[in-house]
Amino acid sequence: MIQFDQVTKRYPGGIDALKNLSFTIESGEMAFLAGHSGAGKSTLLKLIAGIERATSGRVMVNGHNLSRLRRSQLPYVRQHIGLVFQDHKILFDRNVFDNTVLPLDIIGFDRREATRRVRAALDKVGLGGKERVMPIRLSGGEQQRLCIARAVVHRPSILLADEPSANLDRAYALDIMELFKSFHQVGVTVVISAHDETLMEDYGRRIIRLREGQFAT
Ligand code: ADP
Ligand code: ADP
Repeated sequence: MIQFDQVTKRYPGGIDALKNLSFTIESGEMAFLAGHSGAGKSTLLKLIAGIERATSGRVMVNGHNLSRLRRSQLPYVRQHIGLVFQDHKILFDRNVFDNTVLPLDIIGFDRREATRRVRAALDKVGLGGKERVMPIRLSGGEQQRLCIARAVVHRPSILLADEPSANLDRAYALDIMELFKSFHQVGVTVVISAHDETLMEDYGRRIIRLREGQFAT
C-alpha cells in the first residue's frame, strides 16, 4: 500500500512541487496520474520510489515510513519497486538480455534463476527471442518494452511508470497501457503518469489529477 499523509515537497530554490497531499493507493490497485508538465507527477512518483524525500508529511510504502527510513535501508524497499522512468535509460552498449538482467545482478541473483527470470520478463513484454539483439536495432515501442521488462524482472509488488508512452504513437501507447494492465491483473500495484488523459479514460481506473502540486478538481 502507498499512503501520503500531508506531504509537501519543496526543492532547493523554493518551489513547492507538491503541497500538503494526502491520498492512499491500495495494494493491487491500478491508478493514473494526470496533469500538465510541471504539475508534480514525477515528484510524486520519485517520493514513492524513495528517489526524493518529502520536505514534510509522511510517505508510507509497503508498511515502511520512507520519511524516517535510513538511507542504508532504502535498497530493501526499492527491491519491491519497478521503475519505468525517462532518466532510467537503456544501455546501448549491451544487448537486450544484459539490459534486462541488471536489477537481478544488483540483488545478487543466481545466474541460472536470473536467466529464467529474464526470459520470462522478455516473453511477457513480447521480446522473447531477442535476448542477443542490441537495443539500437529495436523500434521505439520495443525499446519501451525493454524498459518495462527490466522494471518487472525482479517481480516488484509496485510498478511506477513516468510518462511511459510520451514518445510513442497512439497505437503503441495503447499497447503499452495494455501491458501495464496485464501486470495489474497478476496483482501488481501500478501507478502510471501521463499528460494525455485520453489514454487513461478507457480503463475505468482512478485518475489522480494534479495541478501545481495540488489535486485538481
Ligand atoms: P511533472 O512530472 O508533472 O512534469 P515535476 O514533478 O517534474 O512535474 O515538477 C514539478 C515542479 O517541480 C516543477 O515546477 C519543476 O520545475 C520543479 N522541479 C522538479 N524537479 C526539480 C528539481 N530537481 N529541482 C528544482 N525544481 C524541480
Ligand atoms: P514463475 O516463477 O511463476 O514462473 P516468472 O518469473 O516466470 O514466474 O514470472 C511470470 C511473469 O509475470 C513474468 O513475465 C514476470 O515478469 C511477471 N511479473 C512481474 N512482476 C510480477 C509480480 N509482482 N507478480 C507476478 N508476476 C509478475
